[in-house]
Amino acid sequence: MKSVKDYIRTIVDFPHEGILFRDVTTLFADPRGFRMAVDQMLHPYAGMQIDKVVGLEARGFILGGAIAHQLTLGFVPIRKKGKLPGATLSESYTLEYGEAVMEVHDDAIQPGEKVLLVDDLLATGGTAEAGIKLIERLGGEIVGCSFIVDLPELGGRKKLEGLGMGVDVLCE
Ligand code: 5GP
Repeated sequence: MKSVKDYIRTIVDFPHEGILFRDVTTLFADPRGFRMAVDQMLHPYAGMQIDKVVGLEARGFILGGAIAHQLTLGFVPIRKKGKLPGATLSESYTLEYGEAVMEVHDDAIQPGEKVLLVDDLLATGGTAEAGIKLIERLGGEIVGCSFIVDLPELGGRKKLEGLGMGVDVLCE
């Protein structure tokens, strides 16, 4: 049987030379692959109390929406600056070149709510760390951070675990 990793293709030199981009669109496009990824991401959280699923733009929306629906929970998007229409909280984080900003609606999570954070891929962990800070500033309690792919050489998992987060990944 194919594993989740088998459905992910690698694109050479995207978005620039020297980068091996893990393309999860081929996983999402396959009915068995997508089902398997969602089921495996949920597996560590079976029986745990979760109040909301939070997804990071953009592929975290696809996974987070499917996971929230499966758990019959609400979904909250964390978006790049300027995309959310209501009042927001912002967190800036470092990219390879320069800085970026992530935002969340300031009423999207209530204090004490238990949150599952979802994205497709963990690299340096900067994006996820910005998401964690936003959730915690709203008073959310993060029960776990779930990704399809971890690139361990970039240190994201260590960074999040250093923040006291539980991290689950399906493949490296
Ligand atoms: P980080 O902030 O951990 O360095 O980068 C992770 C973020 O960048 C995630 O939101 C992820 O979607 C995106 N990303 C970085 N590299 C890749 C890649 O090779 N494949 C995919 N699918 N996303 C990537």
